[in-house]
Amino acid sequence: MTQTSDNLRFEDLGLSQPVLQALDLKGYSTPTPIQAQAIPPVLKGRDLLGIAQTGTGKTAAFMLPSIDRLRDAENQTPFKSCRMLVLAPTRELAGQIAQSAKDYGAMAGLKVQSIVGGTSVNKDRNKLHRGTDILVATPGRLLDLIDQKAFGLSGVEILVLDEADQMLDLGFIHALRKISQLVPKERQTLFFSATMPKAIKDLVGQYCREPVQVSVTPESTTAERIEQYLFMVQQDEKQTLIEMILKGRHPIPGKLERVLVFTRTKHGADRVVKKLAQIGVPANAIHGNKSQPQRERALSEFKSAKTPVLVATDVAARGIDIPGVSHVINFELPNVPEQYVHRIGRTARAGADGIAIAFCAEDERAYLKDIRKTTDAEFERLDLPENFRAVVEGVGPTKREQKPRLARPKITPRGGQAQRGDESDRTDPRPKKKHPSRAGKPRRDGQGGGQSAGQGGQPAQRSGGGGGGRNRRRRSGGGAGRS
Ligand code: AMP
Repeated sequence: MTQTSDNLRFEDLGLSQPVLQALDLKGYSTPTPIQAQAIPPVLKGRDLLGIAQTGTGKTAAFMLPSIDRLRDAENQTPFKSCRMLVLAPTRELAGQIAQSAKDYGAMAGLKVQSIVGGTSVNKDRNKLHRGTDILVATPGRLLDLIDQKAFGLSGVEILVLDEADQMLDLGFIHALRKISQLVPKERQTLFFSATMPKAIKDLVGQYCREPVQVSVTPESTTAERIEQYLFMVQQDEKQTLIEMILKGRHPIPGKLERVLVFTRTKHGADRVVKKLAQIGVPANAIHGNKSQPQRERALSEFKSAKTPVLVATDVAARGIDIPGVSHVINFELPNVPEQYVHRIGRTARAGADGIAIAFCAEDERAYLKDIRKTTDAEFERLDLPENFRAVVEGVGPTKREQKPRLARPKITPRGGQAQRGDESDRTDPRPKKKHPSRAGKPRRDGQGGGQSAGQGGQPAQRSGGGGGGRNRRRRSGGGAGRS
């Protein structure tokens, strides 16, 4: 975080007793920097431009003062409309915001609803018939209901745009323009975006009136709390590597608790999950082809650690709040460097430390270079396991000989219909390669092996000239070979 607010308490910010009680129940006493900066002006009714990404506490930064504003205004819940509208890019984020609104507003007696793509429109129509105080919506579904005259925006007193840059990336620009024409001119607007490209600035101009600007967590700061490691590994050998890691056959830093794996494509995510299932490592995938119930189940199984490996695409994972992610594994590097920061930001949330591991294939070196340049990321290079070649070529111990290192709950069956949702996803543009034998070929990473893979709790050997820099060694992972 950019600054600490250790001496400041929520009581100092002017919030009401019911909201303070709700915070007490959540166990939060100290505001995060964005909360400390945003809450006072929002309480005064000012428009806000918040430059912040998920993990900074921004949801509470807009929700807490808004709840108090709504309480103070004492307006009636409008018929077929809402008093506060929160727009979010993805179903998961919308769900989380709605949950936060319910938690924070528990003592305030406000009605909270959410509507997202991929669920029954009829149900949404029914539940919004009597109106609601707070509505959290993805733009597409909201416009559907407006077009059907099932809902209107004339009652909106507070409008929140969350992750506006992501909404633009997902093609919601027209929806946002249309919504801006439908909300009352007299309103308060709270606008959040992790980045500020020109298109976002234009949108801010369209939506906000003299907004107070608050900015936290320059992207590199998040990365500072995260230990970042790198394996150079061939694309078609990544699966073997992840299997060895998850089965505890290769010691990596930190204790594996909940592992979030990123692939670039939906198909790639499904492939990883399927292969992990084949060796007894339960994992779920979360991406744009999964139905809403499938996504929810994957998330809840991950949160409860029933299925502690979640394989996600960028869009699906954006904005998801998953506490306790111990490791983020970049199975494939993102081709947009900022996406790398979003990915690794899934670990190390709300002040915790985290570990990010990147698998970089030869043809991803350009992505790696971009990531290093754009984010100042410092990677500590890890060697492939000593017996990696043998395992890849099928002469090592069979995969089934090892117990999964992660708790092994039952593997969740998957299936179900693909659904169109409020998000897009890329398909894998690369041709499928046959697995070539690399017997006798020199190692690409130029190392002569020397990896002590899980022997007697030895740490993974690191190459790269003792980089280290930012990567302090803080954790000891039971049997994880962490020094
Ligand atoms: P957000 O950026 O809104 O997604 O929040 C990130 C995480 O931080 C969520 O799990 C919040 O519940 C949590 N959080 C928000 N505010 C605080 C706070 N003041 N103290 C501790 N955790 C918080």
